[in-house]
Amino acid sequence: MNINVDLHSHSVVSDGVLAPAELAARAHANGVQLWALTDHDELSGVAEARQAAVSLGMSHVSGVEVSVTWGRQTIHVLGLGVDEADPGLNAGLAEIRAGRIVRAKEMADRLEAMGVPDSYDGAMKFAGNPLLISRTHFARFLVEQGYCKNMQVVFDKYLGENKPANVKVHWSTLEQAVGWIVGAGGRAAIAHPGRYNYSAMQFDALFDEFKELGGTAIEVITGSHTPAQYVQYADVARRYGFLASCGSDFHSPAEARLDLGELPSLPSDLTPVWHDWI
Ligand code: AMP
Ligand code: MN
Ligand code: MN
Ligand code: MN
Repeated sequence: MNINVDLHSHSVVSDGVLAPAELAARAHANGVQLWALTDHDELSGVAEARQAAVSLGMSHVSGVEVSVTWGRQTIHVLGLGVDEADPGLNAGLAEIRAGRIVRAKEMADRLEAMGVPDSYDGAMKFAGNPLLISRTHFARFLVEQGYCKNMQVVFDKYLGENKPANVKVHWSTLEQAVGWIVGAGGRAAIAHPGRYNYSAMQFDALFDEFKELGGTAIEVITGSHTPAQYVQYADVARRYGFLASCGSDFHSPAEARLDLGELPSLPSDLTPVWHDWI
């Protein structure tokens, strides 16, 4: 039986634009049967998400997307099925969040030097949760002010990996992130691997290390992947024996490449990360 599953989405608790309950309603209206809210580095939306899902008769999995630095780049690791009250996970996420305000001020300084004044306050106006101020909020400000015509241009010119206004921080290590997630009873999944700029050797090292640390899943279908990357990362799942995950990575109706619930099915020979959850 094919069920409609979407295990990656963002609310105003991080860099999405809808409340957790609004996302639940949108997911349900789009036919989603099993859904996870996965805000960046923050679990405080999960209770509202669960309550809204349950009242709609939609199955729900708790989730979070953890920021990690690996090989001098930022990668994201999804924690699915975690106990959102787990003290170790919450302490770890609090540590990650602590660096965001300082980093945002430095990004604003860099943008100012490049001729874009007042971006700290401008970005903050888009942030539902000041402690989760992110590049996405800066990107929305730059688009609103007419500096760039869309978010993709902002990341390509200013805020993407190795672009001039992207201030690098050390998030968590892969070992910490996987440890917190597994310690909280969850499954760790490498999010949107197709977005990372690693060599083939680095990718192999990442997957080996992730598996060794207790990581068990990989996102195969996501709004960040092309159809060719669905095939490529399905193959990685087979080679490494990873469970396969899928999620839209929905942030906003205006920005979505894939809406909630609009995902193609996983290849039928893969074991879904949710195989024993419903
Ligand atoms: P941060 O956590 O502050 O580093 O911001 C990362 C967020 O920026 C991601 O979660 C995405 O929502 C967004 N992002 C990163 N790269 C892109 C991109 N190329 N296009 C659009 N949004 C992006
Ligand atoms: Mn995001
Ligand atoms: Mn991500
Ligand atoms: Mn995401």
